[in-house]
Amino acid sequence: MNKVAIIGNGPAGLMAASQLSILGYSVDLFDQNSGVGRKLLIAGSSGLNIGNDDSISRFNKMILHDNPLIDFSFMFQKFFTNEWLEFINQQLKIPTFLGTSGRYFIEDMNSARFIQNWVSFLESRGVNFHKNSTLQDFEPLLDSTIKLSLSLPTEIPKSFGPYAAVGMFLGGGSWQTHTLSWPSLFALKGYKVLPFISQNVGFHLEGLDAKFFIEAQFQPIKDCILKTSLGEKRGDILVTDYGIEGTPVYHVGTTGSALIDLLPQIDELELIEIINKLGKKENIKPMRRLKNIRGLGLAAQALVFHTFKNQTNLSVEQLAKYLKNFPIQLGVSRPLSEAISSAGGLSLLAVDNNLMSKHHRGIFFGGEMLNWTAPTGGYLIQTCVTQGYIAAMSINSFVKRKNI
Ligand SMILES: Cc1cc2nc3c(=O)[nH]c(=O)nc-3n(C[C@H](O)[C@H](O)[C@H](O)COP(=O)(O)OP(=O)(O)OC[C@H]3O[C@@H](n4cnc5c(N)ncnc54)[C@H](O)[C@@H]3O)c2cc1C
Repeated sequence: MNKVAIIGNGPAGLMAASQLSILGYSVDLFDQNSGVGRKLLIAGSSGLNIGNDDSISRFNKMILHDNPLIDFSFMFQKFFTNEWLEFINQQLKIPTFLGTSGRYFIEDMNSARFIQNWVSFLESRGVNFHKNSTLQDFEPLLDSTIKLSLSLPTEIPKSFGPYAAVGMFLGGGSWQTHTLSWPSLFALKGYKVLPFISQNVGFHLEGLDAKFFIEAQFQPIKDCILKTSLGEKRGDILVTDYGIEGTPVYHVGTTGSALIDLLPQIDELELIEIINKLGKKENIKPMRRLKNIRGLGLAAQALVFHTFKNQTNLSVEQLAKYLKNFPIQLGVSRPLSEAISSAGGLSLLAVDNNLMSKHHRGIFFGGEMLNWTAPTGGYLIQTCVTQGYIAAMSINSFVKRKNI
């Protein structure tokens, strides 16, 4: 039986190990952690969104990366939402459902059960789990097999292999408790490795005082549209103790001036009419009518009030204009340790369309360690498992070609 190694037990590595075990390979699965799927588990605490119902072409437009020759839609045509959901339902025995937001979730949103079932599936297929095993080095041999050297960082590395092929799915730079060691290993071996940049992360709000944050923190600005130089995105924004987070921020957030349509369901003329009607008889100043405008929640009211508290004489027309295009100033983004994902890592220029290394034949890469980025909403996990699948199929073709 051909022996292969997978390093990294996040969704990309787990999918590669699954597919190779289905194809009949003997698989050694290594990870530096003592557990399995650490980031998946963390993701589960906020709902674990495993995919969405976008078409391949819409999905593909969400992904940015640094190699125009790599065709992501070619990969998605081989393994996309249907195949992923079928795998979860049939092999992991977990029902999935489509939420109203067009995103897929697992039943009970219970990521611990999801991981446990995935581990049981892999164990039942004979996959050997090696935990507490950090990749220290790898060496392609003359017969094009690969030897690995792994151990806990403080121990003397142990040698594993030779393997017919190796898949590496070492993850990105976000939400880490310590610096990842693989970027320097690959840089030393001549790979182009780009610094990690926070993605899907909150931004500081500038120009607002502490009173605003005391009033609005942890309150949502429901169903608004954030407009920045990167585009527009509708959804709920969450005010935090430093600034804002949430889907619109993750999709189009960038440092600089931005606008928020606080009431997208009402047009400006209608809004003027509504504000005019509220409190006109009593001749209340337009700014004091804010709390009676339907759909304008506490956080949105606080934003308007604390931005314009020195301009209490705004006219109805001015106020309506601002509510439709509310000016904010986004400061810096939060650090990598708080980001859902990262850009940067191993340049996609280092791999071919089958995700095989151009530097070392027989070594394949996939998942967030590669320099691509996508917004949250299932795009991340789906792309990781697709790449895990593609790398596994490419490993199979590579090994078969060698054996002829
Ligand atoms: C708070 C949070 C919420 C999220 N929510 C969602 C969501 O709802 N939907 C979604 O699509 N995505 C979500 N994500 C992102 C998603 O979890 C990641 O994109 C995904 O886990 C990346 O998968 P991966 O397999 O590429 O890498 P990872 O899951 O990061 O796995 C990489 C593995 O490689 C191991 N490793 C690294 N270096 C070495 C080494 N030198 N030797 C051995 N092992 C090593 C690590 O220990 C790790 O287990 C979320 C992330 C976070 C942090």
